Amino acid sequence: MAELPETAEVADMVEQALPDPAVHVAAAREIARDVLVVPDRGVPLVPNIGIIGGRDAVLVVDTGLGPRNAEAVRDFAADHARGRRLYLTTTHFHPEHAFGAQVFAGAATYLVNGDQAEDLRERGPGYLEMFRQLGEPVARRLADVVPVRPDHVYDRSHDLDLGGRVVRLRATGRAHSRGDQVIEVPDAGVLFTGDLVEAGQFAIFPWFPPHDTDVSGTRWLAVARRLAARDPRIVVPGHGEVGGPRLLTDVCDYLEALQRETWTRRDAAVGEQAIADEVAELMVRRYPQWTGREWIGKGVGCLCSEYADGEREVPAGN
Ligand SMILES: [Zn+2]
Repeated sequence: MAELPETAEVADMVEQALPDPAVHVAAAREIARDVLVVPDRGVPLVPNIGIIGGRDAVLVVDTGLGPRNAEAVRDFAADHARGRRLYLTTTHFHPEHAFGAQVFAGAATYLVNGDQAEDLRERGPGYLEMFRQLGEPVARRLADVVPVRPDHVYDRSHDLDLGGRVVRLRATGRAHSRGDQVIEVPDAGVLFTGDLVEAGQFAIFPWFPPHDTDVSGTRWLAVARRLAARDPRIVVPGHGEVGGPRLLTDVCDYLEALQRETWTRRDAAVGEQAIADEVAELMVRRYPQWTGREWIGKGVGCLCSEYADGEREVPAGN
């Protein structure tokens, strides 16, 4: 992988584009009884972090980027737990969600689904290298990251009893990554989606051929539809403001439109770059307030690769 460009100009640009991804635990707020979110405050590479309490134990969802952020999360969760046992899980292996897990060793039991454990092992080192190219503040956060082996790996689903509250950990199958999982708190109607949902942003397609082509637009749409059908009361996205079920229908609408607009152009044998340009223009007009426009073209690239795969079922839409 390429070295970080040395010129001060480029380094400045990168730093301006990506500020220090610091997690601020003081901003935590309770979104349901004993369910807290440490919000991302709109800062890139800061995830929404969850802390879910039961009578006997507390589950932390996602770590923040790097060990120093994760220490703050761990200490905050331990304070909140007041002696209750600690668990950690991560929604998927991407660095801002999982690359702080090492500091929970000895303090919490780390649980993940099998596909995510494989992602951590196989994809983790490459992502560490890639993210270290994203400027000095991010590289500093990642300096001391070491790979972590989860304490407990489950296959597709795991019910975690926190005492008077059972939390459902569910692998969704490949979508935003190979090993995505969602965390559901049924008694409170809360769903933590990781990056399967972003609020106020275009869906993040980590489509980096040839290094990583795990993301699947068609599977992601199917997963989003299944999650929307469960109609959770509160949806905690990977990034962006906590919201309601509308966040899930927004993702469905966007992914449907992205697929439809990409595939109809493919039907007409338009070239991939032209499709990306046209679809990006269309989507920006449709969602003018959304950030992360760079992900539209990557989504088009991913869906072009899936064009031949499909039962050519293009969803009806507006
Ligand atoms: Zn992600």
